[in-house]
Amino acid sequence: MVDLAINVEQVRERVAAACQRAGRTPQDVTIVAVSKTRSPEEMAAAYACGLTHLGENRVEEAEEKIPAVIERLGDGITWHMVGHIQSRKASRVAEFADVIHSLDSVKLAQRLDRAAADAGRVISVLLECNVSGEPSKYGFDAADEDGWSRLVEPVQEIDSCRNLRLCGLMTMAPIADDPETVRPVFRKLRTLRDTLQRNVTGVSLSELSMGMTDDFEVAIEEGATMVRIGRAIFGPATY
Ligand SMILES: *Cc1c(COP(=O)(O)O)cnc(C)c1O
Repeated sequence: MVDLAINVEQVRERVAAACQRAGRTPQDVTIVAVSKTRSPEEMAAAYACGLTHLGENRVEEAEEKIPAVIERLGDGITWHMVGHIQSRKASRVAEFADVIHSLDSVKLAQRLDRAAADAGRVISVLLECNVSGEPSKYGFDAADEDGWSRLVEPVQEIDSCRNLRLCGLMTMAPIADDPETVRPVFRKLRTLRDTLQRNVTGVSLSELSMGMTDDFEVAIEEGATMVRIGRAIFGPATY
């Protein structure tokens, strides 16, 4: 088994170094340990290393593992949903997710809002935005800056959902060998955030979820407040 403690220590050091380069403080960057395909035992090991934010990307898998982890560790974990959610599964996600990074339609927001109300919960949400324009990516289409004004209305609508707390934006960068090549994607998400923050009355978009194992340092330099890290913590992908 991989030595999680060493991996976590290295990730923390890399986060801190990226923060220092950017004149930021590590307390402003939340490490979300993406535990998809990993066992409840591995998730417990991550928690033992001080990682209290865990992320899953599939509804079925999350439903299966989360109760097992809670039984073992109690409810000290903040659960993040980072993967695409079909609208018909909204009510299931509303049962376990504390933070949803992958909110990609108004319809999904409305269903989550109703389900969260039924469950007596308030769920933090991030708007997933496709700023790179890759057709394979989910998210609100935000590739063309001239079309950003079209996002104002959906953002307003989502922000008015009483059981959702819209707190920022999320993006998935294209896969690249050199993380420098995706820097413009992260910078664009931040610019989009600044634009929406100016143009949507009353909204508070303080969070930027961007950066994964291959590019989280560049994302932090560009303003990420949440990095979603799987392999750098748990070892090479097992799927
Ligand atoms: C798997 C996954 C991650 C983490 O990926 P790594 O490259 O293993 O760090 C982050 N975000 C999402 C949405 C994922 O599905």
